[in-house]
Amino acid sequence: MLSLEEATARILSRFHPLEAEPVPLLEALGRVLAEDVYAAEDVPPFSNSSMDGYALRAADTRGAAFDHPVVLRIVADIAAGSSTTVEVLPGTAARINTGAPIPLGADAVVRFEDTSEARLSPEERRAPQRGEIAILVQVAPGANVRPAGEDIRRGQLVLARGTPQRPFEIGVLASLGRSRVSVIRKPRVGILATGDELVDLDQPLGPGQVRDSNEYSLAALVLRYGGIPVRLGIARDRAEEIRRKLEEGQRAGIDLYLTSAGVSVGAHDWMTEVLAQEGDLELWKVAIRPGKPLAFGNFRGVPLLGLPGNPVSAAVTFELFARPALLIMQGRSRWAKPTLEVILEEDLASDERTSFLRAVVSHRDGAYYARTTGPQGSHVLTSLSRANALVIVPAGARLRAGERAQAQMLDWPEEVDLPSSQPSASGAERRSG
Ligand code: AMP
Ligand code: MG
Repeated sequence: MLSLEEATARILSRFHPLEAEPVPLLEALGRVLAEDVYAAEDVPPFSNSSMDGYALRAADTRGAAFDHPVVLRIVADIAAGSSTTVEVLPGTAARINTGAPIPLGADAVVRFEDTSEARLSPEERRAPQRGEIAILVQVAPGANVRPAGEDIRRGQLVLARGTPQRPFEIGVLASLGRSRVSVIRKPRVGILATGDELVDLDQPLGPGQVRDSNEYSLAALVLRYGGIPVRLGIARDRAEEIRRKLEEGQRAGIDLYLTSAGVSVGAHDWMTEVLAQEGDLELWKVAIRPGKPLAFGNFRGVPLLGLPGNPVSAAVTFELFARPALLIMQGRSRWAKPTLEVILEEDLASDERTSFLRAVVSHRDGAYYARTTGPQGSHVLTSLSRANALVIVPAGARLRAGERAQAQMLDWPEEVDLPSSQPSASGAERRSG
């Protein structure tokens, strides 16, 4: 028997990131950047106010206090989105909105709350202010000013190749005006169910027949992990039919085949027969439960992962082997599922294989607790549907309620690598608003 680690290493060594493709910005979500993105412009593009208030010369506010106002003449009212050529000379101030450009001559902003405008009603404040304004605080140069390029400097490396694109990175790219960006393309995954007993969903069930659920759960898993599922349908247990379906996949430009069933030892070995001629296939016994029988090989050079037929085994082996392969093809460097230490709520044991038991993990009083979702037969798909984790019971272990184990969280996303610090010095340390 192969250990889980050995099987994983053997499979994953065969996978590499796919090529890049340009996509509209929003389609980059969840995908990995395939270019180094340099800033073509400063962000913010111009020096602007972080407050609604008055732009002025900080030197004019020297000694200003609530009981000792400094009175300045209002020379402009600058709204966000406007520009002005007005210069703020000593003794004057320009009324300014958040995001509006700092006028020439001004080097600070005093917010409304620190001026005589604080006494006005919101309605009165909406009207243009004329005449004079009393400043009630002293401010330092740079107060409430966001300098041009404070966030991003033109020419700076902003996002490096290899960075997974979360909504935050999408926002950063938008702030730079990038409507298209290069990302690793999505893998196309051909899904083939095999078995004489299988019928598709809208067919009546004849004697001895079962519904082909694997094709759908596997397609859904492929979608969940960023691939494009290409359903190749059901192949009867005949070499010719399997070959024909795999060829269909080849024409569709498949990057990975996932097949289900027909890999248990002693089963009619159609898959092996096809792949002996057109590629290769190794049948493995992996020391895990569920999912002991597993096949790995290639059809005309395209990798093929032969998953077991039992619905829970197919889904769990997808989680363990196909999911990391898919993530690697998409350029992700981290593919491990988050694993938690849980306190068991029942006794759990394993035989000579590592068991992945369907369980509910819940958080109470600062700890995570796990209880299984009932019968663990590898055909009982509803017990996976009720689970949010797989509790890992090592080979040979007999764990008691109250003892600790690791649980792999089914619905928690894999971690994302973040750059350890800001990519380059910015205005942030020069000014602090
Ligand atoms: P096998 O790997 O062919 O021995 O199949 C193991 C079990 O999985 C059998 O009970 C099959 O009926 C079942 N099975 C195989 N393929 C599927 C499928 N696509 N959907 C649901 N059950 C399946
Ligand atoms: Mg079968």
